[in-house]
Amino acid sequence: MSSAMTGFYADLHVHIGQAGGRPVKITASSALTLQGILTTARSQKGLDLVGLVDAVTTAVRRELAEALAAGTLRSLGGGGLASRDGLVLLLGAEIELVLRGRPVHFLVFVPSMVELEAMAARLEPYVKNPSLSTQQARDLGVAELVAWCEEWGAACLPAHAFTPHRGLYGAMDQLAAEPPRGLGTAVAPRLAALELGLSADSAMADCCSELHQLTFLSNSDAHSLPSMGRECNELALRAAEWDEVRRCLQRTGERQVLTNYGLDPVLGKYHRTFCAACGVQATDPPPVLRCSVCGQERLMTLGVADRLAQVADRPFPEHPPHRPPYRKQVPLSMLPGVGTVTLRRLVEALGPELFIAHQAPLERIAAVAGERVGAVVDAMRRGTLVLQPGGGGRYGRVVGHGAARDRVG
Ligand SMILES: [Zn+2]
Ligand SMILES: [Zn+2]
Repeated sequence: MSSAMTGFYADLHVHIGQAGGRPVKITASSALTLQGILTTARSQKGLDLVGLVDAVTTAVRRELAEALAAGTLRSLGGGGLASRDGLVLLLGAEIELVLRGRPVHFLVFVPSMVELEAMAARLEPYVKNPSLSTQQARDLGVAELVAWCEEWGAACLPAHAFTPHRGLYGAMDQLAAEPPRGLGTAVAPRLAALELGLSADSAMADCCSELHQLTFLSNSDAHSLPSMGRECNELALRAAEWDEVRRCLQRTGERQVLTNYGLDPVLGKYHRTFCAACGVQATDPPPVLRCSVCGQERLMTLGVADRLAQVADRPFPEHPPHRPPYRKQVPLSMLPGVGTVTLRRLVEALGPELFIAHQAPLERIAAVAGERVGAVVDAMRRGTLVLQPGGGGRYGRVVGHGAARDRVG
């Protein structure tokens, strides 16, 4: 990285639970507010950039405008809003389109409040309730959405691309195939990037050669304050602002994603196929499309590993030269022995969670939280935690580490 470039930690998929005292994302925590994000994203998590995917909703737009008027936030020349302590918010929306009759989520980021208002106005005829998160825009096509983004200097990318319910690959056979099988060669190359989702990593996605051209993002899809940053990206930028992020996704000049920090995909809640009829999760090598117990396919929730194995055209990942390393992380709160109190003590003593997870000296972690916590963070860094895979909407779990491996495995 040249001297003009700085590494910034970015989580570009964070929801808002409540704004103006009313729910925005109903399934999200009511503590996940704009104010909550402003006070914890940087100090607690160590994030420099946060993508607000509910910025387009009525109440959040109002809160942002009020914060700008009050001077709590200021607009950056290159797009995005900066808080007083230097956290940069990117203005976005998660939009549900219907492709081949199936709901698919896309993230859109716009430069400033002007384009945010324009997007809200443009979406209005398509959505039922503009005050709620992730509205379905029923008759809006993906080509049209991408064209709007080009007009605004915005970016459009598929969210959690491989998840069974609302991921792009759940609806499409191949991205670049002509509609109705795919998005077509007129649209696919205009996607700004692709969000891997919690249940996939670069190694899994790079088994699919049509994805080699795309920049991968690993974002948290946070529905609560503690889950912010459970996935994030280190971006090499000249400055923390929208225009630099947009160019980073296009890999312009030296701007690039330096590292994807992602959950170990095994822990994702849709990692493996799950049979709702018998409550059994697949353990055979992917793809598993039919339940090995009851034999049916209808009540199966297809796993991300299984879906990717189905669409992959390579038996092993082939990473394009631009692909950054994917560093697996397990959120500190998921580690055995790390409760809320321990986590708070660690952050107070050592600094933000991202620093504790990847950089803080183990002796210092052990001095604050005890030898066992030091050992489990060490195991997380080495990738020797023993994990039980997730599926069917249930997260995986850490079931042991290091010396405990033989007993548990
Ligand atoms: Zn979504
Ligand atoms: Zn079954």
